[in-house]
Amino acid sequence: MNKFEQLGLNPAILKAVEEMGFTEPSEVQEKAIPILLQEDTDMVALAQTGTGKTAAFGFPLIHKINAESKHTQGLILSPTRELCLQITNELKNYAKFTPGLNTVAIYGGASITDQAQQIRRGAQVIVATPGRMQDMIKRKLVDISKIEYCILDEADEMLNMGFFEDITNILSYTPIEKNTWLFSATMPREVATIAKKFMRNPVEITVGNKNESTSTVSHEYYLVNTRDRYAALRRLADANPEIFSVIFCRTKRDTQKVAENLVEDGYNAAAIHGDLSQNQRDMVMKSFRNRQIQMLVATDVAARGIDVDDITHVINYQLPDEPEIYTHRSGRTGRAGKTGISMVIVSKSELRKIKSIERIIKKKFEQKEIPDGMKICE
Ligand code: ADP
Ligand code: MG
Repeated sequence: MNKFEQLGLNPAILKAVEEMGFTEPSEVQEKAIPILLQEDTDMVALAQTGTGKTAAFGFPLIHKINAESKHTQGLILSPTRELCLQITNELKNYAKFTPGLNTVAIYGGASITDQAQQIRRGAQVIVATPGRMQDMIKRKLVDISKIEYCILDEADEMLNMGFFEDITNILSYTPIEKNTWLFSATMPREVATIAKKFMRNPVEITVGNKNESTSTVSHEYYLVNTRDRYAALRRLADANPEIFSVIFCRTKRDTQKVAENLVEDGYNAAAIHGDLSQNQRDMVMKSFRNRQIQMLVATDVAARGIDVDDITHVINYQLPDEPEIYTHRSGRTGRAGKTGISMVIVSKSELRKIKSIERIIKKKFEQKEIPDGMKICE
């Protein structure tokens, strides 16, 4: 009996697991799945990005849904359209051998009429972004009054994006008697507040300590003068010709500017930020996924939806104000057991930020020299 079989999942799901090529459960899956299958309980599960949280709630959800009844039984809230689509795709894979089980994605920027129609045809599971979900509730296009399972996925990111009120509002349309499962990479105060407000005696699961779970990512910083930031970025790119990277800037303007400079200087780069249309963003993401773009310059908000495997480097062109955001950024690399490097280009005045990040990630940065000779920081 393999480890997945021991978790108590039904044969239809086990068959899907096999077909997806998962040979053994990840730690969060091993911990969460048996509890969610056996008990009607609320749960708070904390595990770093890339540890397989989707299946940790997705398998038990698919297992527990009654596919013979067409009403909506499960609601998953997720921060971005990208993630909504990803989760929906995953759930469809999990339910491949569970006939009659329908999952529908609800997100902004696409036809609400089409989405409403899909729901009318019967959706036992809805995966939604908070904004569009509220809209559909207001227009009475969905009925979540009989859901049994409510999942808040990537709760920290949802709250970072300011969805607290939306979530509160949406939950007020759900029955009191239900199970709420909250999955998150980190546990900032807002997440604790949500858990306290909406959950009853949740079982708490934490995977690894942060130390262990980020151990596939090494953290490096490069000390430069502020005016040499861009030159430093180029040198780092030149020294790593196979780079497949997300580069984080603080503002939309800087994001656009750095990407433009890189393109002018002959790199395969593009920007992704909130001033682009959904269509443009989709195109950029598509080119990035199929490697036409090697360097994606992004704002934190635009990067939230990015789940691309095999990112070799995360480059912090500028550091974020909040150390927590750094953990999100660096979590984009080193996924699924691969190694990754998170680089920070930092000026002297920002060095103390490195210290506070080290406290959060419980790891030390290695100070490195900008490659290729000439020192650009004296
Ligand atoms: P998280 O939500 O924790 O960031 P995901 O659920 O997106 O992580 O999973 C990250 C990647 O790992 C996905 O590509 C997923 O298909 C893969 N994955 C998840 N569970 C397993 C497993 N048990 N074995 C192999 N790959 C897995
Ligand atoms: Mg996830």
